Amino acid sequence: MERSPAARNLRFAVIGAGMSGILSAIKLREAGYDDFTVYEKADRLGGTWRENTYPGISCDVPSHLYSYSFEPNPDWSQRFSPGAEIQAYFEGVARRRGVMSRIRFGDEVTRLEFANGRWTLETKSGHRDEVDVVIAATGVLHHPKLPDLAGQDDFEGALFHSARWDHSVKLDGARVGVVGTGSSAVQIVGAIVDRVAKLSLFQRTAQWIMPQENPRYSEAERAEFRKHPELVTKLHEDMAVLFSAFSNGLVDANSPQMKAIEDACLANLEQNVRDPVLREKLRPSYKAACKRLVMSDCFYRAVQQPQAEVVTEGIERVEAKGVRTRDGRLHELDVLVLATGFRVDRFLRPIRVVGRDGIELEQVWEKRPSAYLSISIPGFPNLFMLNGPNGPVGNFSLIEVAELQLGYVLQLVSRLRAGCREICPSEEATVQLELDRTEAAKHTIWGSGCRSWYLDDRGVPMSWPWTFDRFRAEMSAPKLEAWEQKG
Ligand code: NAP
Repeated sequence: MERSPAARNLRFAVIGAGMSGILSAIKLREAGYDDFTVYEKADRLGGTWRENTYPGISCDVPSHLYSYSFEPNPDWSQRFSPGAEIQAYFEGVARRRGVMSRIRFGDEVTRLEFANGRWTLETKSGHRDEVDVVIAATGVLHHPKLPDLAGQDDFEGALFHSARWDHSVKLDGARVGVVGTGSSAVQIVGAIVDRVAKLSLFQRTAQWIMPQENPRYSEAERAEFRKHPELVTKLHEDMAVLFSAFSNGLVDANSPQMKAIEDACLANLEQNVRDPVLREKLRPSYKAACKRLVMSDCFYRAVQQPQAEVVTEGIERVEAKGVRTRDGRLHELDVLVLATGFRVDRFLRPIRVVGRDGIELEQVWEKRPSAYLSISIPGFPNLFMLNGPNGPVGNFSLIEVAELQLGYVLQLVSRLRAGCREICPSEEATVQLELDRTEAAKHTIWGSGCRSWYLDDRGVPMSWPWTFDRFRAEMSAPKLEAWEQKG
């Protein structure tokens, strides 16, 4: 890339070596920025795919879509490939693209402070760095949300969160309890039911289940993909169009797409759950896709196995031998899995972030996190988030979201390279956009009357409430009147 004579050299810190951090490293280099470090607190890259290793884990976005647009993979084994394969994909991309040597592993960023046009970064080990730009690629579904069940510490068996799977614990022939009915629980139940002696699924709220076939790609198909990479790129693009059509329906609770999804889920329930009592237990009382839509082709089969039970009585407490429900019954267990989701309001935190004039992010986000276009925060110049607050997180490929956001960020960064020292969104533009966003969010499917991780403390969906096409258009070029530039 050609530089003007006045171009500044910029130093970057990327925080997190998951999907968006790896993407950032690759795209920074491509844009001609070579002075950067990727900070990763763990000893391995991969983010979500490093941390979630529970049985049955896969991504319910088709693999050919859940890939970087510039790194098509002819070798995906299935339409929805398992987690380990996705982890291997990211490791392969990072190795091939020379990202590995740029990652500082095993050191957690604890503090960021902005002064005189630069960020000072500190890590747990005491390492310091001074950079012009910070890209926070810290993930969304990252901090496990543990339920506050009475007596949890008394349990004599093994107890762990779905994102902290303890692979030393024997499942074969064990009595296993699973708390939760989100995507994680549904995948776990389908994968372990045939191995365990007893499976108790503690369901607080029934889920709509979208049937999902998962055909394998034959060796012949994969050979064809290897020979003609353009076929893989075409698949990626076609799937992106299909997903856009689906996601455009999410923002209108009464759209034909939402009706079609509910019809498909309802037919799945009616046709595939034989016992009328169980069918009623599994029948949700809210609109399909209000909670994050769960896709599975084996969940209903799993919960109809003789060793499985869907327990709908609330949990009273955990005891030494198992879980006691409110009807007084003790469900004896050897293993209790908490598939209870994540704290989705953390983003950069627990990093302590001090912006311009000493303002603390913790204070700015005291009520709830927010950011202009989910990317940047007034008063925190040259700090950009990927998959930040209130962005498009509902049933999209977060890779596509991150690629679009990074393209937008790089356009802002080019202004820094050209000589501007500080860039951040104006307070006015941020407040106005947030007002418009919350108003629009009320009409989306996520605001149609259910409890879910999409909702903030006011019950407003924390998501992009307009079509994905509008998001794409917004990301194509920054509206510079919304950005304050200094220096
Ligand atoms: P989740 O969707 O937030 O589900 C948490 C479950 O735990 C819910 O059923 C919830 O019940 C239940 N729960 C929470 N606290 C409880 C308590 N104290 N007592 C009883 N039940 C409790 O979490 P998740 O399944 O880990 O999924 C999170 C997100 O990760 C998904 O929505 C999806 O975006 C992503 N994910 C994706 C995939 C994929 O294939 N792409 C796979 C896994 C996860 P209520 O419904 O009553 O609140």
